[in-house]
This record gives sequence, structure tokens and C-alpha cells, in this order.
Amino acid sequence: MKFSVIPEPRTFQISGDAPVFFLNELCNLRADAASATAESDLLAFLEKVYELTPLIGSGKDYIFLSVDPTLPDREGYRLTVQEHKVTITGADDSGVFYGVQTLKQLLLQSDCALPALSIDDAPRFSHRAFMLDICRHFFAPDAIKLILDAMALHKLNVLHLHLSDDQGWRVEIYSRLLLAQIGGFRTDPAYGGKLYGGFLTKADVSDLVAYAAARHITIVPEIDLPGHSIAALAAYPALSCDGKERNVTSRVGIHRDILCAGKESTYEFVFSVLDEVCEMFPSGMVHIGGDEVPLHNWKQCPDCQKRIRDEHLADEKALYEAFMRRVADHLRAKGQRVFAWHNKELSPDFAGSIVLHHWNRPPETDAPYIDANWRVFYFDHSHGTLPLSAVYDYEPTAEGKTPVGLEACLWTEFIDNLGKAGAQTFPRLGAFCEGAWSEKEAKDYARFLEKLPAYERLLQTLPVPYTARRQANPRALKKLLLSLREGGNWVRGALQRKFD
Ligand SMILES: [Zn+2]
Repeated sequence: MKFSVIPEPRTFQISGDAPVFFLNELCNLRADAASATAESDLLAFLEKVYELTPLIGSGKDYIFLSVDPTLPDREGYRLTVQEHKVTITGADDSGVFYGVQTLKQLLLQSDCALPALSIDDAPRFSHRAFMLDICRHFFAPDAIKLILDAMALHKLNVLHLHLSDDQGWRVEIYSRLLLAQIGGFRTDPAYGGKLYGGFLTKADVSDLVAYAAARHITIVPEIDLPGHSIAALAAYPALSCDGKERNVTSRVGIHRDILCAGKESTYEFVFSVLDEVCEMFPSGMVHIGGDEVPLHNWKQCPDCQKRIRDEHLADEKALYEAFMRRVADHLRAKGQRVFAWHNKELSPDFAGSIVLHHWNRPPETDAPYIDANWRVFYFDHSHGTLPLSAVYDYEPTAEGKTPVGLEACLWTEFIDNLGKAGAQTFPRLGAFCEGAWSEKEAKDYARFLEKLPAYERLLQTLPVPYTARRQANPRALKKLLLSLREGGNWVRGALQRKFD
């Protein structure tokens, strides 16, 4: 018997073809207290997929779930199948949970009759993230839950939620209620010119945080600062340099209107918002954006120029760095780990203060970073411009640096529903997770392709939309290269629409 597990386990040995364990309604499940999340996840799977509420205790076959802290690797697990017995032992509760994710795949591929086998497994990277942009288009809590379910199957452990941008503010803040009430909606000609949008309430966030935790996923909230802030400026115009009234925009791209870094009231706003966000999302991690910040308005603004003089800063670029450092210092004093996008144009080195998500190239220093390489991990790219093989074959250490983790990103300028989101994300997320979880030596693209039918069947248990297309489109690739030469990162969005 041959099994296809994604991501590929570290070692997998099968002792023979004859089944020795049989799952049925008489099967027993025994879990220790530390394995409660794994137990409830397995029970939910069995009931949903097999309509089994087994484990009532009169049969011969057992599933044992337990934590053994003497196992060597954090998040690692051992899964063995012997005569009438499946044993999953995790180094910690997440290890047991990941063992259950593997067991699901084995059950689906064997009609619930397993041969003797042994798996020893642990992740390559401790930070295995998926970023969802719910600003360009709002994704409701149920859609986010489906994505969390899919992430769990892929053994991913961080959902990075992009919560604020020019096109929408997506989380309720009690101290600044207009952020969501005004910033959460735009008049969009593409959607009948009516108010279009939505936001997560505090109750939604609390529910999502618990839902994610039950799947060993941490949610990292992102409030994008000081750029990508038009939705915030629409709600509170005084936060901009000129104080003029603005509407939440439906235009994609980089906008000149950003937060004023001169006025002290901007910092009071940022701190109070982030304090509330950190309370809502107890991950101890927060992302403060920092990308695509045009300095035009700061050059004209008396408040920004005064701060540059008062703080003896060289220029607006230094003001950007001072702004980011001050916000990061505020958060770090509260015990937060701070993330931001690497800013290609302003390019400061925040080593020791902010962990940067490098989307364009690895850092030149030895600072810890997250690899979110746009060429291979931006899943909003069309399948013509980003073939599955490119996602799979990417090796994050190729340039001599080792990131602390990998992140796949779904920007949603041109993705307005879950069907499109799924079609862009799967099976790419399978390729991504094998890079994030499995050792470099365990990767094999030809074998990965052979595993896809079983992987698709696994996703159907949720179900999530899936696209089988994975061929590069030479014409689309040529257009993409031309557009990049012309500059303009967002041009890729237009290509997306044109070619997908
Ligand atoms: Zn200003």
C-alpha cells in the first residue's frame, strides 16, 4: 500500500500491505488531557467525513493520543500503527494535533483499514504562515474559519490578518468607533455604487481567536502604518497632514495620503488603536505594515517638518524610521513581538526591534526575518505567471540566509469571494506547506504531483475550492516581466484580472 502525505513526513515506514487496524463505530479513542484539541479535531473529522461517532469502547481497535515531553522536536510527533492500535505521541499538544492531521490522510487513503506503519515527523520552520488580506475585499468570519480549517490540514500555525488598508478598515475599535463604521465601507462602482464592505466585531475576533487556537494557529493582526491608511483618514481626517475630508477608496495601488508623522495626536491614535488590537489578539505578535509610504505629503507638512527639525532628523526618510521605531518601542514595552513589511524604497534596518517580512529579497544583515518572497508566495498571481512548480521548488536558504519562517500571501485586490480565493490558493498551499514543514532533502516535485489526487480528496472534506490548472502561460509571463520593468508593484493585479 502506498500513502501520499502532504507535507511529506520526515520518515515514513510501512511494514506490510495487510491491514492491522480497522476504524469503525466500535473503535476506542483514548486521549490524555493535554491532547484535548487533537481529540476533538479527530472526532469532528470522523463524524463529518464518515458519519462515525465511534469510540464507545466495545471494539478491539484503539487510537491513543498523548503528549510525551521527552520527544526531541517542538511540534513533532510519532505515529505508529500496530495490531489493533494507532498511537500518536506528540512532543507537545500541537505535535499530537499534527499527528492527527496525518492520520486523517492515512484513513482517507486506506478506507480506514491501516497496515502496520511508523512515522516520525517534525517541522523545518517554526513560523509557517498564511496572510489573508480582508481589506481590499472583506471576508466574513465563516470564510476565515474555513481558511483556518485548511491551514490546520497543512500544519500551518500563523494566520496573518491584514486588517487595515486604503480600501477598508476591518476591525472594531471601541476607542475609535468610526474606524469600522466609516472606514469599513466604501462606495464602489464595481459593486453597484452602494456601500460595500464590512468589519469584524470584537465578538467575531474573540470567536476567531478561539477557533484558531483550537487548531494550534496564532492570529497575527496587522494594522498598516503609516501608509495604506485612507480608510482611517476617511473616519478621522485630522490624522492626515492636511486634515481634508476623504472617502474610503476603491482604487488599488499606492496612495499619497498617509498618516501625519508630525502631529502628536497621530501617535496617541496609533497607540490607543494598537493597545486595543493587542488585547483582542493575545498572540503577543503584531504587524505594523510599514510598506509603500510615499513621502510627498510629509515634505509639504509644517507639522512633519517641525518634528524633523525638533528631533534633528536628516529628512523624511529618517522621519519614517523614527515613526516606525517609536511605534515598535511602544509595542515592545508591552511585551509584543513586532513585525513589518520590508520597505524596499526606505529600507531601514530595524534589527533587534522589528522582524521584517522580506517580500523582495533577503536582508543584507543577519537580522531574523520572515520570507514572503512575492515571486513565489503571492498567491494572487495568476496560475499563468506563477506555476505550481515555482512555489514548490523555491528554496529560502538559496542566498545563504535562513529565515525564521515562511509566509504565503493572498492579496485580494481582484479576489472578492471565497471561490476565487480558493482557486488561487489550492493546490499552491500544499506546495508551500511542504517547503515550510518538510526538510529540504525530503522535497521532490515529481512525487508531490503524484500526491495531488489524494491531497484534493483531503481538501474536499472541508470543502474548499481548488484549481487543477498549474501550467505556466508564456504570454502572461512576458507581460508580467514587461510590467515590472515599467515599475508598479500593483500592475500585477491588473495582469491577474486580464489573464486569469
Ligand atoms: Zn504631517
